[in-house]
This record gives sequence, C-alpha cells and structure tokens, in this order.
Amino acid sequence: MKKIIKSEEEWQEKLSELAFQVTRRSATEKPFMDHGFPNLPGKFKCVCCDAELFDSETKFNSNSGWPSFYDTSNENAVTQKHDNSHFMNRTEVSCSHCDAHLGHVFPDGPAPTGLRYCINGVALNYTKK
Ligand SMILES: [Zn+2]
Repeated sequence: MKKIIKSEEEWQEKLSELAFQVTRRSATEKPFMDHGFPNLPGKFKCVCCDAELFDSETKFNSNSGWPSFYDTSNENAVTQKHDNSHFMNRTEVSCSHCDAHLGHVFPDGPAPTGLRYCINGVALNYTKK
C-alpha cells in the first residue's frame, strides 16, 4: 500500500486545529461532540487522506460519547498498534494510508465481531452513499 506522507506544516494547513491535534498528535476529542453526522446510510472517510474507513452499517450507539463501529469498511483500512500511554493498556487504531490517529479498539463491542472501534469523530468525514 502506498503511504501518504505530508509534512507537519502541510497537515496543519489542511486540517482544523482539533483534527490536527487528534490525527497527528494522538489527542482525544471531548466526548459527546456534535459532528453533524446524519443518521443515514453513508461512508466515513479519513479526514486527512479521504480513505474509506468505516460504514454507517456498522455504526452503533455505545453511549461512550464517541462514534463507535463494530467493524471497519475493509480489512486493510486501519492499522492496530499496542498503546500503553496514560497508564492504560489499549489498542490504538490509525489510518493505514496516512497513519492518522483515529482512536482505539476495545473487545467489548456487539456481535458479530465483538469489537468496539471508539473513534474521534473529528478524524472522520461523512459522505452519503
Ligand atoms: Zn488517512
């Protein structure tokens, strides 16, 4: 897979301050932010590189305050990495195409995967199907 590589300055220019902090600095947005995602069939793409990451079909309400999905839109969409920062044992999820930090994946999601991708909404762009 061809990686998308940009300088810090280029990302900063393209992204909002919050999107930059989250995707390039692994920050976490505040919970329960309203990103204006409609409750309609659609795709969620990487705010940095436009790669397709999640599908509205796998979106569910986890009450965590962050957009949650039980699966990715294809098996190469995201890369998982062990993350023990903040004294927690978590698995970080990033965009496979541009290494944007997206959020974390937890093993407490619904069937059929049992996974909960807990994603910063600011890292995603919604597009209608
Ligand atoms: Zn990306």
